[in-house]
Amino acid sequence: MFRNFKMVSKVVFGRGCFSQLGDILQEKRQGSESVMVFLADDVFKNGKLNNRLPLKTGDLIIWVNVDDEPKTVYVDKLTTQVKKHMVGKQDRHPSGVIGIGGGSTMDLAKAVSLMLTNQGSAADYQGWDLIKKPAVYHAAVPTLSGTGAEVSRTTVLTGPQKKLGINSDHTVFDQIVLDPEMIANAPNPQRFYTGMDCYIHCVESLEGTYLNSFSQAYGEKAMDLCREVFLTDPEEADDKLMMASYCGGMSIAYSQVGICHALSYGLSFVLGLHHGIGNCVAFDYLEDYYPEGVREFRQMMARLGIDLPRNLTAGITDAQMEKMVDVALVLEPLWENALGKDWKTIMTREKIRDLYLKM
Ligand code: NAD
Ligand code: ZN
Repeated sequence: MFRNFKMVSKVVFGRGCFSQLGDILQEKRQGSESVMVFLADDVFKNGKLNNRLPLKTGDLIIWVNVDDEPKTVYVDKLTTQVKKHMVGKQDRHPSGVIGIGGGSTMDLAKAVSLMLTNQGSAADYQGWDLIKKPAVYHAAVPTLSGTGAEVSRTTVLTGPQKKLGINSDHTVFDQIVLDPEMIANAPNPQRFYTGMDCYIHCVESLEGTYLNSFSQAYGEKAMDLCREVFLTDPEEADDKLMMASYCGGMSIAYSQVGICHALSYGLSFVLGLHHGIGNCVAFDYLEDYYPEGVREFRQMMARLGIDLPRNLTAGITDAQMEKMVDVALVLEPLWENALGKDWKTIMTREKIRDLYLKM
């Protein structure tokens, strides 16, 4: 069976296109009491979004905090907040949920739009195709580029038991607004870590056994763009990085990520490391598996003067180490993509433990 995957319905791209958001949302506002919910990263509170949000009377703006990566309990709390706001209104649901921020904020917007129409807790839907009802209309404005969250069919959440996405066709955004000005001046090292998420998506997709021409086409383009952005100083670097993220996301949509992502999920579950930095920490020890990619990654790191944190696993307990290995091993498709059908004979718990011990 070939995957028949859903893509983002509408895309607007260009410097300054954020100012079109009001017109775009206007088409989706139903009736005079229509409500739009904006979930915006609180890093922009009193900052560059000031007076730029196309707010109308009755709209709700929630400044979300992503110091921790999104948790299912946080999604549940935000969903309750939106439901309370809707009490006494003409419509049961808002006309739209708009996420403005990096991968974490985009994921929160996806998850809240799903949980407004699906009962229970977000934790009940971590997995594949468990969502029953379509989400509320949802849109995103990325302010960091690299995760590909703007195009993916998942919202990555940390639940009580696992870090796993809500993977579903309903998760995919209805609209994305790709304005390179929105990622301008994102500070290093964050810009680098998130950008490397894209670079690593490409390496893992292009080196994987699931590769096909669809993934290869997008993956190679994204890789070239990453090289340009991080190894030269091109004009319109933000435009290029934004398109790298888009293409990298499209590449893994039809293939899969690999060893680095599996290990990074373990680091993030146990140590709370964010996805981008966790990937960089893990990737630096994967020379045996991705020699070319790791070599180039180190070149990019040196060029930007990035120092990775080290000795992260030095003080952890045996139980934490075992949990980290468990979290990584659950991600079977990633291992299979990287190492082939016989991956279980190649990648043992001991090998994973040894890799973690180096970090
Ligand atoms: P992020 O959204 O976690 O943000 C990282 C930090 O940068 C935060 O402190 C945030 O406040 C800040 N920030 C965001 N935009 C900024 C800007 N323009 N200027 C200054 N600071 C800014 O970072 P990310 O790397 O974009 O996303 C990582 C998250 O994305 C993780 O939670 C990960 O699980 C998720 N993810 C999702 C997918 C998917 O397909 N859904 C894919 C990969 C990663
Ligand atoms: Zn990633």
